[in-house]
Amino acid sequence: MYDGKHLKGATGTAGEIGHIIVDSGGRLCGCGGHGCLEAYASRSAIEKKILGSMKKGHKSIIAESIKDSGVIRSSDLADALDAGDEIVLNAITEASEYLSSGLASVINFYNPELIILGGGLMEAIDFFYDLTVKKTFAKALAVPAEKTKIVKTQLKDFSGIIGAAMLHQG
Ligand SMILES: [Zn+2]
Repeated sequence: MYDGKHLKGATGTAGEIGHIIVDSGGRLCGCGGHGCLEAYASRSAIEKKILGSMKKGHKSIIAESIKDSGVIRSSDLADALDAGDEIVLNAITEASEYLSSGLASVINFYNPELIILGGGLMEAIDFFYDLTVKKTFAKALAVPAEKTKIVKTQLKDFSGIIGAAMLHQG
């Protein structure tokens, strides 16, 4: 928070935006709570949404990737989007909707100078990053948002959930 350091909070968990509640009484989260951002905008949430749609009989070219490698890679999702796959488009758009709500809340409340978005999905899928940034600024209050920059990491070492760090530069 000061001198470019991360905000730590009383228990060292401040800055963990994964458990911002974006849907009161919503989906069960790994933390035991309901409606946390992580239950909507994480990689596993996106995969669950895609697999759920396919189970209901909707066709997705992701089925081929799963057949070939047994997993859904970020690059598979990027390829599916490029091919105009609607199931993947819907899942990514929904995740972006929730993620941008969480980020807009962070901007309104905390007014950070910099938000860094990371994670394999964020890095592999420009559409996800671009849409999320656009939606975030559309939702955030204009005055704090004017001072906030959102950038993408190139670190490749975030696992699982979409990483986000908020910094105040001293
Ligand atoms: Zn949670």
